[in-house]
Amino acid sequence: PPPPFFLMIRPPPRSTLLYSWAASDVYKRQALPLGVLNRSRAEMTDWLGLGVSVMEVSHRSREFVAVAKHAEATLRRLLAISDDYAVLFLQGGASAQFSAVPLNLTAAGQVIDQVVTGQWSKKAHAEGERYSPVNLVASSADQQFTTVPEASEWQRDPSAAYLHYCPNETIGGLAFSYVPESEVPLVADMSSTILSQPIDVDQFGVIYAGAQKNIGPAGLTVVIVRRDLLGRARSETPSTMNWQNAADNDSMHNTPPTFAIYLAALVFDWLEELGGLTVIEEINRRKAGKLYDLIDASDFFSNPVEVKSRSLINVPFTLAEAALDDVFLQEADAAQLLNLKGHRSVGGMRASLYNAVDEASVDALCDFLRHFEQRHG
Ligand code: PMP
Repeated sequence: PPPPFFLMIRPPPRSTLLYSWAASDVYKRQALPLGVLNRSRAEMTDWLGLGVSVMEVSHRSREFVAVAKHAEATLRRLLAISDDYAVLFLQGGASAQFSAVPLNLTAAGQVIDQVVTGQWSKKAHAEGERYSPVNLVASSADQQFTTVPEASEWQRDPSAAYLHYCPNETIGGLAFSYVPESEVPLVADMSSTILSQPIDVDQFGVIYAGAQKNIGPAGLTVVIVRRDLLGRARSETPSTMNWQNAADNDSMHNTPPTFAIYLAALVFDWLEELGGLTVIEEINRRKAGKLYDLIDASDFFSNPVEVKSRSLINVPFTLAEAALDDVFLQEADAAQLLNLKGHRSVGGMRASLYNAVDEASVDALCDFLRHFEQRHG
C-alpha cells in the first residue's frame, strides 16, 4: 500500500521552499505560493504513483480521504481549533454562506444582528434579509466605509440569533482592530483575513471564508462552526448547505472540490513549514507597514481609512490625480506589478498583500510607487 498521505505531502525542504517562494515573480503571486504550484505541477499527471492526477481519483478513495483528513488536521493545528468545532469544506463561495448562515442558525422570523462596514458585509446583510428580519446594528456607509462604528453606539437586539460582521473588508481595506464582544454567537466572514494572523477561534460561533485568498484556489469554502450550533437548520435548508449534514458526512455529502482541497492541504503545509500564523503575521505586518509608511509620507498617494482600522491585507490607495490612473496601471503592468486596480465599486488602486505575496514583491511595489511619484508627482 502507498505510505500514509502525510508522508507524501510533506513540502520540500525549507531552503528549497523559501528559495522558490522568494523567487516568485514580483507581485504576480496572489493566492498560491510558487512552491505549492510547482509541487502540484510535478504531481499533476502522476499522483502518489497512481499514474493519474488527484482530480481523477474518487473522492471516496483511500488516497483522497487521506488528503481531506490531512487538510483538516493541518488547518486545525494552524488555527488551534478545538474539538468543540466542526471544520467543513464546502462549495458556493463565501456568498453561499451569506444564505447558509441564517438558514442554519435561525428559526423563521427570528431576528439577526448585522454590522455593515463595507461592500461584503452589505451583501451579507442584503442576503440575510431574504431569510430573516435583520437588525442593522451599525453602519459606516455614511463615512464611505472608512471607519468602524464605535461599539458603544451599536444598537443590538437582545433576542438576535447571532451577530454577523466582516473583520476585514476586502474592497475598502477596513479591518476591525478587535473582536466584538457578544452574548449571542459571533459569526465572522473571514474570507480575506483567515490565516493571515493568529485568532482565538473560541471567540466565534461561526467563521467562514472563501478559499481563494489565503487558502487555495476558488471553489472551496471553509466553515468552522461550534458544534452546539449544528442541528438548528430550517427544514427547507438545501441539504448541500446544511452544516450538520456536512459535519455528519466529513464534508462528503456530495462530491467535494477535490483539487481545491488537495491544493489547500499543500498551502496549509507550506504555512506550517514557514512557522505558522505568528510568523506569517510578522511578515504581513512588515509588508503592510512598508506600504502604509510610504503612502503616509507621500503627498501623491493617499489611503482614506482611519488609521486604527486599516487592513493588514488589503491596502487601497488613490493617486493625487485620478487622470493618472490608467498610466499608473499600464506602467505597473509593464513592471509585472499586477492586480493593482481597485474594485470597480470604489475605483482607485488596491494592493492585496495575501500570504503568498512575498516581502520582496512589496519592496518592488514600494520602489515602483516612489519612482512613479518622482516622475508624475
Ligand atoms: N466576503 C469577503 C470578505 C470577500 O472578500 C469575498 C470575495 N472577494 C466574498 C465575501 C465573496 O466570496 P465568493 O466570491 O467566494 O462568494
